[in-house]
Amino acid sequence: MIVEERITSFINSMNKDDEGIVGIIEQEARQQEVPIIRKETKEWMKTMLCIKKPMRVLEVGTAVGYSAIYMNQYLPEGAHITTIEKWEPRIEQAKDNFRRAQVEDRITLLEGDAADILRGLEGNFDFIFMDAAKGQYIHFLPDVIRLLAMDGVLVSDNVLQDGEVLDSKYVVDRRNRTIHGRMREYLYALKNHELLETSIIPIGDGVALSVKCK
Ligand code: SAH
Ligand code: MG
Repeated sequence: MIVEERITSFINSMNKDDEGIVGIIEQEARQQEVPIIRKETKEWMKTMLCIKKPMRVLEVGTAVGYSAIYMNQYLPEGAHITTIEKWEPRIEQAKDNFRRAQVEDRITLLEGDAADILRGLEGNFDFIFMDAAKGQYIHFLPDVIRLLAMDGVLVSDNVLQDGEVLDSKYVVDRRNRTIHGRMREYLYALKNHELLETSIIPIGDGVALSVKCK
């Protein structure tokens, strides 16, 4: 928890639950402990989407499709989401959820490792949601910046990892030390890239909001 629990609870008490199938898919995912987007983060994303009105959205890390289905509700007519997932059981669940939510024509699922898929992707995406393995963000970044349109927005989730990204390298175990080191590198890259302006926001598990400009 990077924000005092009672503040997060207060913020979330103001939020309405998703209705219908979107709410059911969210509940199922939380029950199965799929690491889907936190409630306060998705509310914030909603307002970002309504400001930006992106026509082409790319998501790295589909899981069971919840965040894609959620984002789809706030996109303009004719918009499209491309989302990438590599883990077979989740791919099947995501496909099933896209069917249930009747969004198969609006969301394309690309199956495989994002490292390979991103390299082969073309096009200008005006909104990218980075939400896959945290230690890999830094490796995905060159392709993500290439795929981002001018004035495009990049939202990276889980960048503060419960605050552990800040901790001294001596108090976290070796595996996490590597992941956190890479995340610090990633944040440094976002903050210092000549084409990006980035703000790190302590909401949910930490979010970085970047825009490609200049
Ligand atoms: N965006 C989802 C949650 C994604 S959880 C939501 O909020 O609903 C992160 C997902 O990224 C996991 O399902 C994991 O399997 C996937 N993932 C991790 N590394 C990946 C990679 N290199 N390529 C593709 N998917 C990856
Ligand atoms: Mg996340």
